[in-house]
Amino acid sequence: MRRTLAVMVGLLPMTLLPCSAWAWGEEGHQLVAAIADQHLTPEAAAKVQQLLGAKHLADADVAAWADMIRADRPETRNWHFAAIPHSAATYDAARDCHDGACAVVKIEELRRKVADPSLDGPSRLEALKFLVHFVGDLHQPLHCTNNDDRGGNEVAVRYPGKLAKTNLHATWDELVLEDAVAASTDSDLAAYVLALDSTIKPAQVSEWTASVNASDWANEAHKMAQGIYAELPPRKGPLATRLKSDYGPKHRAAVELQLKRAGIRLAMLLNLAFDPSSGASARPVAMPSPAQRRPITLQAPRD
Ligand SMILES: [Zn+2]
Repeated sequence: MRRTLAVMVGLLPMTLLPCSAWAWGEEGHQLVAAIADQHLTPEAAAKVQQLLGAKHLADADVAAWADMIRADRPETRNWHFAAIPHSAATYDAARDCHDGACAVVKIEELRRKVADPSLDGPSRLEALKFLVHFVGDLHQPLHCTNNDDRGGNEVAVRYPGKLAKTNLHATWDELVLEDAVAASTDSDLAAYVLALDSTIKPAQVSEWTASVNASDWANEAHKMAQGIYAELPPRKGPLATRLKSDYGPKHRAAVELQLKRAGIRLAMLLNLAFDPSSGASARPVAMPSPAQRRPITLQAPRD
């Protein structure tokens, strides 16, 4: 059975982070990987599987692995986001990516690593797991803005229907998505992601894959984050901001759009890395017919 997303929020030691470092809950990362998996070319899928062995791209300990090892690998802490100043229009590497330690630069590095056959298997597998994760991270809008509040972690909010106080970052990591899954007609996450994926149109794939630059994706997410802040009701003293009762339904489309964009772009990067011939086509992303779809596995190690 699917775990409730809300449970995960309590497990995340957000208070330890210098800036927002989590994007999407485990399930969000799994959804991105599951969408990507459906759009790999057969050649890329075979090579990815070779690296993964018995695991699947959308397993929690693949797609969300980078979050699980943060405590053991402090040097990876800043790789999960791109701290574009809130008022800035666009990403600036010199300003927003000190020492190359941010999601934008890491995605570029990891693309090359996963494609490098001279690297040993364990190093390529690690690069693959990081890449899957950071492409997801970069599409969580609050991972692409720095408003001096640790990516919204310090913006206390009350989310409709929740008794406990939460924050803006967790709202976009987990709560809007939780509402979206609950509101869908599909009771389990695998069915939800399949339904989500089937709404993706070829024209959207062309639009989303027009750029292979992670900085363009960061700018797009940053703009979205600016909109999220702009519509927050004015803060009244130390009290948590009360979000409107329709906050979840209102933003469902935005969250789902970001998950779909992340999945398609991840597929593009993996296809280009593992099946370079796919880059010769106008759209280096496979569009499976219903019969060509792969079964979706969303294994969570802590179940
Ligand atoms: Zn992360």
